Amino acid sequence: MNYVDLNGQDRAAAELANYLQSANNTSDLAKDIKNFDLYNTDENKALNAKYVSAYRGQVVIKWLPNGRSGSLGPVMLLDPDEDVINGGIQTVQHEGGHYVQYRALDPVVYYMCIGIPSFFSQAQTNKDYYSQPWEITADIYGGVNRGPGFSYHTGAILIDIFRDWLMDENCP
Ligand SMILES: [Zn+2]
Repeated sequence: MNYVDLNGQDRAAAELANYLQSANNTSDLAKDIKNFDLYNTDENKALNAKYVSAYRGQVVIKWLPNGRSGSLGPVMLLDPDEDVINGGIQTVQHEGGHYVQYRALDPVVYYMCIGIPSFFSQAQTNKDYYSQPWEITADIYGGVNRGPGFSYHTGAILIDIFRDWLMDENCP
């Protein structure tokens, strides 16, 4: 006797295919993975992803809550509500600027002098925070224009300040 129901198998395969198709269409993570482009240059794409995306070579993870965002080398951590809280686009550009710093510096120097102080600084919405040398150059590298009140985009002079600051005893 033949117990194999070929029609039933076909039906099960079709149902499984339909299930996978619908899961793929509805799952936010699947959508993120489908849209993933490591060299994406659209800040909104990174902001609109639910869990994971990428920006200019950096993997972007929506994870840190309470308005905190940070750049840890090849990974950018964004508040899931970043687009609402902090004007989003500037934050993505700024954190991307930290990745430019990371690639330009030895990773140890980057973490000691920029990554860790930047990550644990408490005054991220304070104007003074973004006037710190390593924050200014992150803005410059990231192409951020913070508008009136932020008049530090004077280029080479500030990059000199940043370089001098790196030579300071604060850094290894
Ligand atoms: Zn920063």
